[in-house]
Amino acid sequence: MTVRIWGETERLNEVTQLIRTLDATLSAELETSDIYAINQNKNGIVSDLTIELINKALYYSAETDGAFDPTIYPLVCQWRSAADTPPTPNLEPIGYQNISISGDEITLKSESALDFGGIGKGFAAQKSVELLKESEVEAAILSLGGNVQTLGAKPDGSKWAIGIADPSAPNEHIAVVEFEGSMALVTSGSYQRYYEIGGEKYHHILNPKTGYPAENELASVTILTQNGTMADAFSTALFVMGLEKASEFWRSRNDFDAVFILKDGSIMATDGAALLLKECEFTVIER
Ligand code: ADP
Ligand code: MG
Repeated sequence: MTVRIWGETERLNEVTQLIRTLDATLSAELETSDIYAINQNKNGIVSDLTIELINKALYYSAETDGAFDPTIYPLVCQWRSAADTPPTPNLEPIGYQNISISGDEITLKSESALDFGGIGKGFAAQKSVELLKESEVEAAILSLGGNVQTLGAKPDGSKWAIGIADPSAPNEHIAVVEFEGSMALVTSGSYQRYYEIGGEKYHHILNPKTGYPAENELASVTILTQNGTMADAFSTALFVMGLEKASEFWRSRNDFDAVFILKDGSIMATDGAALLLKECEFTVIER
């Protein structure tokens, strides 16, 4: 993570502490986390922050008709442990309807298990920005492994300029987004992480309806919106949907914009994103 703050810089420690706490609480892999315990016992009492995240994850699951689904963990484990041949996905434990919340108690149905890898970084950035807002820092920019979120105007008077990674050369950018003020920019791409099975690469964004890595014309999706949690959930969900469904989804609402990089290297941007895109050629997706 990279965190930069202008103004009350003593807030830096609080923010990095918050992000570390969230990671330690929400990781499905850490044996000491809230989520690890729930996944083992299928039931447990969790912190207010964990309840908040689960509620948000459930909300975005329903909004995206299950393209985003935090009960993906059993499938992640199946893919991760396959050595020579791809697994036959077991869809039985998958479905956000398998999560129930009662006060601060979480219960999972049968073999279900939680993974907040698709929303956790965005949630951490969003909570950090909320903390910084309370303390009235002048401006801030956070970058959590590809998730960028800004707060306020850049103090030198210039615009924020954030690169979108080139899926075929991830250390370089294929486009730049320029804007003033607060915004979250979150990218999900098939180039970021993958499992190697029998010499083949299988990327890490899974379609909850099929159990297989989402395969369509997209190489990456970048979401631009005010809320970091939403940006992260939607980046994963729209990657699963593919270009056509994702464009329809965007037309059905008014709370985000998106930049799609296709496998052939072409770029498509929703009308709001098109106004901010620099250093590239692109096609505009109209309402
Ligand atoms: P990254 O974490 O690489 O920046 P994403 O935000 O797209 O990218 O999250 C991908 C991670 O989310 C996967 O590694 C996995 O843990 C989890 N995941 C995969 N598919 C889904 C899905 N359809 N819904 C929710 N989470 C998912
Ligand atoms: Mg995501």
